Amino acid sequence: MQKTDILIIGAGPGGCATALKLSQLGIPSIVVDKAIFPRDKICGDAISGKAVTILRRIDPSIIERFEAATIEQSSVWGIRFGAPNGKCIDVPFRPNYDPINDPKQGFVSKRMDFDNRLVEEVKLRNNIELHEGISIEKYERTPGGYLVSNGDGSFQVQTKLLIVANGAHSAFSRHQVGLVKDEKHHAGAVRAYYKNVTGLHPDGFIELHFLKEINPGYFWVFGLPGGHANVGLGMRSDFVSKRRYNLTKGMLDIITNHPDFRERFKNAALMGKITGYGLPLGSKQRQLSGDHFMLVGDAGHLIDPLSGEGIGNAIYSGVIAAEQAQQCLLHSDFSAKTMHAYDVRVARVLGKEMEMSYRIQQLMARPWLVNFTANRVARNPNLIYMIAEMYADLEVRKKALNPLFWIKTLMKRN
Ligand SMILES: Cc1cc2nc3c(=O)[nH]c(=O)nc-3n(C[C@H](O)[C@H](O)[C@H](O)COP(=O)(O)OP(=O)(O)OC[C@H]3O[C@@H](n4cnc5c(N)ncnc54)[C@H](O)[C@@H]3O)c2cc1C
Repeated sequence: MQKTDILIIGAGPGGCATALKLSQLGIPSIVVDKAIFPRDKICGDAISGKAVTILRRIDPSIIERFEAATIEQSSVWGIRFGAPNGKCIDVPFRPNYDPINDPKQGFVSKRMDFDNRLVEEVKLRNNIELHEGISIEKYERTPGGYLVSNGDGSFQVQTKLLIVANGAHSAFSRHQVGLVKDEKHHAGAVRAYYKNVTGLHPDGFIELHFLKEINPGYFWVFGLPGGHANVGLGMRSDFVSKRRYNLTKGMLDIITNHPDFRERFKNAALMGKITGYGLPLGSKQRQLSGDHFMLVGDAGHLIDPLSGEGIGNAIYSGVIAAEQAQQCLLHSDFSAKTMHAYDVRVARVLGKEMEMSYRIQQLMARPWLVNFTANRVARNPNLIYMIAEMYADLEVRKKALNPLFWIKTLMKRN
């Protein structure tokens, strides 16, 4: 049996970010993952500006090595929003961007490659011990922390602090912390890779289409190099259940029959299978820590309820967990009371954003309102730039939380 101060379960973006930040702070850790990398993860593969910024903050060379790697990756400079009436609006992440000289804002990169790159970064640090191919099945509370082990007990670690980053199906989150699936705060999604998709934006804008046929869900097309694309459809789970909606059928129907897409997919070919997975959304605040443990990323239900973005939040929460771990080690205090500072910090940095996303997600269920907004925005380039600034400037984003701001802005003439 091994003994450690910090054990991290899961080497996805959340677990890797935690280990990398701890390493940067000079704190050793053990990381265990049931998979052997490279492994796939069902995802839209959009790596947001937030994910890139936080990884750069941990160590700028992480993104430099990622950009230099010979893997399929597209730079993303904005988002194309499609309204239910078919109107498309291109919103760049920052006004007047320069795709050649500006620092990259975000990427589309297959998770098979992106997650493997993060694991390669973990392997570069000599104070992180990584174990692949070991599934943690048992968690036993001991006086000094947790004793965790795999199914047959051949792998056992006694840890003072357990950092749980093992994704949306985390048994620890469900059984030990009581984070059960709440369909109003959970989404289902399917995705597939296609080749020969036409009409992709030249600057890699990712496409989110809020089609009336699938309201309140959305259909996405995220371009990869060479006419390849990650294509998917997501919808809140309570709507999926109520309508007995078949996400795979819905997605195929759009690709084959929808007037805005059938031409673009006329010569497209499916690569591999259409696969689905759940997204635990952060629209409801959850318990994220307790005596001797913290939950990071999807294990803590931290996916953005509007965009479905979870990689950035997993990385962000991992960094906060690492900083909290540093405090705990410094004071030899792993009590729930001390650990609660982690919940407070996560709520402070991600809470407002989640709240705004949740409000907008609810507004999106009213197609007439989305059409009205799209029509107004399309006629007003200043408004597009203001939305673009919302990505870069937190103060502009805060203003957007106020409904009066939107009423005034949308009613204003050019
Ligand atoms: C269809 C779909 C589309 C999405 N699109 C996007 C997108 O475009 N952009 C975005 O930002 N987010 C997207 N998300 C969300 C994103 O995939 C997650 O938020 C993100 O993967 C969370 O990272 P994580 O590290 O918390 O968990 P994960 O990435 O799930 O990593 C968890 C790790 O834990 C390991 N593990 C699990 N159980 C055990 C165990 N018992 N023992 C040991 N190891 C274990 C797994 O092997 C895995 O490596 C999407 C999700 C879905 C389902």
